[in-house]
Amino acid sequence: MNQVDYLRISLIDRCNFRCQYCMPEGAELDYILQQELLTNPEILTLLKEVFIPLGFQKFRLTGGEPLLRPGVVDLVKDIAALPQTQDMSMTTNGFFLGKMAQDLYDAGLRRLNISLDSLNPEKFDKITGNRGRSRWQQTWEGIQRAHQVGFDPLKLNVAVIPGVNDSEVLDLAALTLERHWHVRFIEFMPIGNAELFGDRAWVPSEELRQRIRDQWGLMESQVRGNGPADVFQIPGAKGTLGFISQMSECFCDRCNRMRLSADGWLRPCLLNEAGQMDLKTSLREGVEPAQLREQVRQLLLIKPEINFKERDSGTETGKYARTMSRIGG
Ligand code: SAM
Ligand code: SF4
Repeated sequence: MNQVDYLRISLIDRCNFRCQYCMPEGAELDYILQQELLTNPEILTLLKEVFIPLGFQKFRLTGGEPLLRPGVVDLVKDIAALPQTQDMSMTTNGFFLGKMAQDLYDAGLRRLNISLDSLNPEKFDKITGNRGRSRWQQTWEGIQRAHQVGFDPLKLNVAVIPGVNDSEVLDLAALTLERHWHVRFIEFMPIGNAELFGDRAWVPSEELRQRIRDQWGLMESQVRGNGPADVFQIPGAKGTLGFISQMSECFCDRCNRMRLSADGWLRPCLLNEAGQMDLKTSLREGVEPAQLREQVRQLLLIKPEINFKERDSGTETGKYARTMSRIGG
């Protein structure tokens, strides 16, 4: 059985962007109340007493926008200081990195994935739902700052949406020619947004690879990630290209992760709600961490079944109701 050792921790469901596919209009009505968020000490208790003893050693901080969470730098420092932490990373929209990249680096964060769906400021603002002053420039500067500070290699995530930004795939791939960056193309998932994108909501990774191959050639990279991305490289390029193909391929059998939402729900599979556990309520009601650990151990045992059971029915019907900002992307 695959070792499940990777926990994605959502720090907050709020975001300063409104990406159409992730934060539909009105999402704010549903925001988790401040007092319902797991606190930093609760997150640390869960890591030290529940997850780490069960073998979890890799943690990704995400959201919503994780850099909006008060106390995020302290939390990074505390997680980095746990002797069992083998790997800690963060997924962010990059907007606050101009100010925060150095503090995050000093706190012990070494890996960042920054989402960048377009190099065209107008399109970027449209996708991210920015009205008024453009946010592209500050985001781009945040990316540069992260690079200067020492986040290397830097990963950029692109959710590829047909008819919206798939025409930019070559421009985005070209970022790797002269930079030691890792650009990752993610097949768009109809999660909580299926109605927005009509019949064909995603472009198969192989179609993107073919476009890149036709332009420059493409080879499989020697560098293998430990995640779900298939890694390639344009011959002679400094950086690499990753393709995350959760729609065209099923890698549920290799799934090594669970997700903890900002309000403390543990979710064994992104694509369905089976088996979810409310760890925060249990903790606040005084359930002993050892008992929670036992419950999570049981959940780990049935995770492979949960992975497989609902995936296909969900993707066919587009029935996933919660967007990524709520689940923790
Ligand atoms: N706010 C941060 C950011 O944008 O990087 C972290 C949270 S966001 C939910 C994490 C990632 O999920 C982003 O790269 C975003 O593009 C991706 N994402 C959100 N909804 C998605 C969807 N329906 N399909 C594919 N990727 C999605
Ligand atoms: Fe915010 Fe990230 Fe969702 Fe965009 S994808 S709305 S930046 S959480």
